[in-house]
Amino acid sequence: MVQDLKGNIRVYCRIRPIFNDEVKTVIDHIGDDGSLVVVDPLKPQKDKRKIFQFNHVFGPTATQFDVFRETQPLIRSVMDGYNVCIFAYGQTGSGKTHTMCGPACGLANELGINYLAINDLFQLSDERKDIIEYRIQVQMVEIYNEQVRDLLAEDLSAYTNIQSFDFLTTNKLEIRSCASDGGLVLPDATMCPVKSTTDVINLMKLGEGNHAVSSTAINNHSSHSHSVLTIHVHGEDVSGSIVQSCLHLVDLAGSERVDKSEVTDDGLKEAQYINKSLSCLGDVIAALAQKNSHIPYKNSKLTLLLQNTLGGNAKTLMFAHVSPEGDSFGETMSTLKFAQRVSTV
Ligand code: ADP
Ligand code: MG
Repeated sequence: MVQDLKGNIRVYCRIRPIFNDEVKTVIDHIGDDGSLVVVDPLKPQKDKRKIFQFNHVFGPTATQFDVFRETQPLIRSVMDGYNVCIFAYGQTGSGKTHTMCGPACGLANELGINYLAINDLFQLSDERKDIIEYRIQVQMVEIYNEQVRDLLAEDLSAYTNIQSFDFLTTNKLEIRSCASDGGLVLPDATMCPVKSTTDVINLMKLGEGNHAVSSTAINNHSSHSHSVLTIHVHGEDVSGSIVQSCLHLVDLAGSERVDKSEVTDDGLKEAQYINKSLSCLGDVIAALAQKNSHIPYKNSKLTLLLQNTLGGNAKTLMFAHVSPEGDSFGETMSTLKFAQRVSTV
């Protein structure tokens, strides 16, 4: 299989379009071979250009379907028993949620990977129904300040007075770190059986609604928390043999460096948690890419939660999102360096 030849860690870069009021692009060249050349608009000399190499680079005109098509074989391997993790990394506003969910999470022609992936899994399950019977279930959680919360627990929008609803102290989930026995990593998170894409879309709306409500209660933390949608697949063929695997679809917290002088104590704590979990994620993937014997999963909730889809036979895909506008050059460089570090190309 082509995808196996590429190893188990893939890194794609996606550059969002430049908006009308933005000026000066940092993108100098996008190669068909996964190369990317960026330039600091303040230092446009040729010898100051920076060259990066990824498995693929999606330019500003790439459609949601272009991105999905490139990812489809990886997603489909979940149905053959591989654990898969797809995550979107990048500064706030670089297009992570656009890739994973789509704008406003659901315009029909702009649906993101989450929807397209699940739709594809149902299609595959239908094609194979004479030889293998699949059961698909979904969990959705967020990680905020190193605490895991269930986003499918209940409909928070019923709480009109969200100030009094203490979302911070309720609804915390424990991670079982030794799930190598095939048990669940989050045994207490709501597990919803799904039969169709519509079922999943409804659940995701509930999850996104809860995410939004908790964001309002806790100082707009939607871009300050990691959201993790997990698709559990269980298949049994006619001979009784079983495949069991899961797909994590992760919209990470914004990776931007926070200016200490501009935030409150809460904001600083939040930024430190985000920095820590993103750098742990980078450490884990870099350790896997370098085939180190010790993989530091235990250093953050995020890596602990994703552990069974990072390493071993699992397949990992990172989307490094960047904004092309000149003012973002510093953040763009930091995202590209992070992505280059975990990349094995
Ligand atoms: P993030 O989740 O990284 O903070 P968003 O996905 O919310 O960023 O993207 C920021 C804005 O840019 C949104 O309005 C989004 O619709 C738009 N956007 C991002 N990527 C694209 C794209 N590839 N094509 C069109 N619009 C995009
Ligand atoms: Mg977002």
